Amino acid sequence: MIAAETCARIAERPWEWPWWRMTKEDAVILPWIILIHVTALIGLILFPLPGWPILLGAFALAWIGGLGTTVCYHRAIAHRALTLKPWALMILTFFAVFNGSGKPISWVSGHRLHHASADTDNDISSPRHGFWWSHLRWLWQAGIPDSVRFCPDLDSPRYRIWKYLQPPVLALSYFGGLYFGWAAFFWLGSIRLVFALHAQCFVNSICHTEPTAALGEDSSRNVRWLGFMHFFQGENWHRNHHARPGSAQLGWGWRQPDLGYLTICALEKIGAAKDIRRLRRV
Ligand SMILES: [Zn+2]
Ligand SMILES: [Zn+2]
Repeated sequence: MIAAETCARIAERPWEWPWWRMTKEDAVILPWIILIHVTALIGLILFPLPGWPILLGAFALAWIGGLGTTVCYHRAIAHRALTLKPWALMILTFFAVFNGSGKPISWVSGHRLHHASADTDNDISSPRHGFWWSHLRWLWQAGIPDSVRFCPDLDSPRYRIWKYLQPPVLALSYFGGLYFGWAAFFWLGSIRLVFALHAQCFVNSICHTEPTAALGEDSSRNVRWLGFMHFFQGENWHRNHHARPGSAQLGWGWRQPDLGYLTICALEKIGAAKDIRRLRRV
């Protein structure tokens, strides 16, 4: 059981707050989420069919951003299931930040707390507190877990620097498409960001809803349909992941596609990844 002071906010039962209540430390998150949704809606109305080049560009950015989150943030940094060369870590972190996944230290702190307290009241993103809490609200209401406690290994410039780089990278992510015209502005920016946000958030809200699990029992689920939204990068095999959190493989066998793991194998081949903890060894 994790002590509540590792994430002081949890003791205040923030899931009982109204959804719009923000705290100073998270004050930019809700306005950012509202901004990208409103802009995406306008974009879908004005440019419902942007053309193949723009669609492929948005897909490519969401694709590599998803790899940044699952391969770099999740498997390499949070669980140490592989080691990435510094250049690969920098590139994948850039695209994770570009895709709206946040800074590595805050992502990993929250995720390690999730594993340490899954299915208890201290789990900061548990659907036991409601769908919208686990899907979105915890992002701006749960507070930031104690990174000294959860991420002492990330106390280095290569991770801390993203606190300063995140605002300009997100500005580039939101506005950058404008270079290619208005349709690209909406599709490469806010529409892609909204898609990426919900694809990730479904892991918290949908993949922890095993109906037979009592409080304190493993509620994680493998959700096959979510694989389509994740471009088959593997995060939808969440029950597998809770059973073997140290494994670099989330999909077990060919029936469970895991392109994140195949990417790791490809990175190993070119010398960008090593020390891969495969399923049989964990
Ligand atoms: Zn989980
Ligand atoms: Zn994990």
